[in-house]
Amino acid sequence: MTSLADLRHTAAHVLAYAVQDCFPEAKPTIGPSIENGFYYDFDRPEAFTPEDLERLERRMDEIVKANYPMKGRVVTRAEAIEHFRDNPYKVELARDIPEGEPITLYTIGEFTDLCRGGHAPSTGEIGALKLMNVAGAYWRGDEHNPMLQRIYGTAWNSQKELDDYLAFLDEAAKRDHRKLGAELDLFSVEEDAGGGLIFWHPKGAIMRQIVERFIAEGLRERGYLPVVTPHVVSEKLYEISGHLENFAHGMFGPLEVEEQRFRLKPMNCPGHILIYRSRGRSYRDLPLRYSEFGTVYRFERSGTLLGLTRVRGFTQDDAHLFCMPDQLQGEFEQTVEEALRLMRAFKFERFDYFLSTRDASLRTENDPIAEGAIRHALEKFGLPYEIDAGGGAFYGPKLDINLQDAIGRKWQLGTVQVDFTLPQRFDLKYRGSDGHDHRPVMIHRALAGSMERFFGVLIEHFGGNFPAWIAPVQAVIAPISEHQLDYARAVAKKLLDANFRVEVDESNEKLGYKIRHWKTQKVPFILVTGREEAAGGTVNVNERGVEGKRPSISVEEFMNELRARVEDKA
Ligand SMILES: [Zn+2]
Ligand SMILES: [Zn+2]
Repeated sequence: MTSLADLRHTAAHVLAYAVQDCFPEAKPTIGPSIENGFYYDFDRPEAFTPEDLERLERRMDEIVKANYPMKGRVVTRAEAIEHFRDNPYKVELARDIPEGEPITLYTIGEFTDLCRGGHAPSTGEIGALKLMNVAGAYWRGDEHNPMLQRIYGTAWNSQKELDDYLAFLDEAAKRDHRKLGAELDLFSVEEDAGGGLIFWHPKGAIMRQIVERFIAEGLRERGYLPVVTPHVVSEKLYEISGHLENFAHGMFGPLEVEEQRFRLKPMNCPGHILIYRSRGRSYRDLPLRYSEFGTVYRFERSGTLLGLTRVRGFTQDDAHLFCMPDQLQGEFEQTVEEALRLMRAFKFERFDYFLSTRDASLRTENDPIAEGAIRHALEKFGLPYEIDAGGGAFYGPKLDINLQDAIGRKWQLGTVQVDFTLPQRFDLKYRGSDGHDHRPVMIHRALAGSMERFFGVLIEHFGGNFPAWIAPVQAVIAPISEHQLDYARAVAKKLLDANFRVEVDESNEKLGYKIRHWKTQKVPFILVTGREEAAGGTVNVNERGVEGKRPSISVEEFMNELRARVEDKA
């Protein structure tokens, strides 16, 4: 059976065929399959319009129905160049195929393309397809080259699969954290401040505080100590750590001050190491666990920035553990346990684990020890994992934890890394029970990853319907008329005094409007207060996502209900 990738790549040929028929002046360039679909880049002076895409889609359907066989043949370089003489892009591609590699042309119907292969046997295999949109793309991804038009499409085995995929996209669009972030007034990116830098608005900042407090609690229970380190430090530090050598492309700076070069910190580790090294350490001090919500800055090209998930400044729930080699296993296990506690609290249920080993050029005799600790921890908790060869950090192998959100999308968040390299670079020591100096091992770990990215994922996971324990406003008190406003304020005061996050709707709108408004704000509870409620000291609870009217209950009863929700993290 044809793989989806081959099916989609075939659909890219079908698209180029349709473009040749409908817009013969357009020059096809390349057309690979991608995750969930395919694209094809064309050089055409005029922009493709939505109507053009519809026309192309109709022609593509005909090409699919005609069920043209995909016929391949090997040609010489000269033949290929001759065939594509009117298309400089294809000529360039044909010239660049390495000596000794076969050059192949593939034909469906009246359309021939230069291609390496990987196709369905015929166009009729494509069960359903759809063109999605057009975007600009430079030839060969280089901004000095001409700008092409990239037509994106998707192709599936059946109409049902396509419909399911489109429904999934719809759901994903509704959950888009950039859209919800603006609608719910959680955060923004400000043009005047530059891309990839996040402004947390009060409601977003409240949620971040709650998440940070939850994480800090887990760390305190596990014996972590808080530290705080500077955002700007001398470049010398990153010379010692190896960041300048291995990570300079990702660092902001240098800034020159009094003939000294400074850098914005791209990672918290070197700072934590300086604290460890600031005094003599004995085996009795170990393990030492330093934690910091550490804000770091990393350069990302502006074209790759995306909402909260690809940013230039972010805060990691970072910690560094310094331990003796025989403590490595236990320490690694407790970090995995903590990761599970964190993810489960936020109702993530499916995870993928990757043991990422270091590139062969970086491996030392310590790598197998570090990999062993990771492997044993995973096995102890019965967690299945895959190996990501070469995916490790420059200083050591690591465990990456990917999670799936409520609609099945996968996100990479937490990582735990074992490091024998930095202790060596910084010449870290501890005095052993034998009276001699020994080298500690380090674990780097950020379990939520970055607060920005984690928050973006949370918004999409919950679709903005945050559970009461993290919702920035847990309840809104909506008086039916201005006569109940004082009562509504009194109810709010009671709730605020009990540490709940509430607001009073003081607008002059009708009740129906108020309820609709707060529902779009996805507030968990709307407490309606009318004449009866004011007289009886009760509230009428309107719960998010729950239909039907409930009898009014006392404010105390409601507080107990809300408290239980918060405690269960339900
Ligand atoms: Zn092909
Ligand atoms: Zn680190």
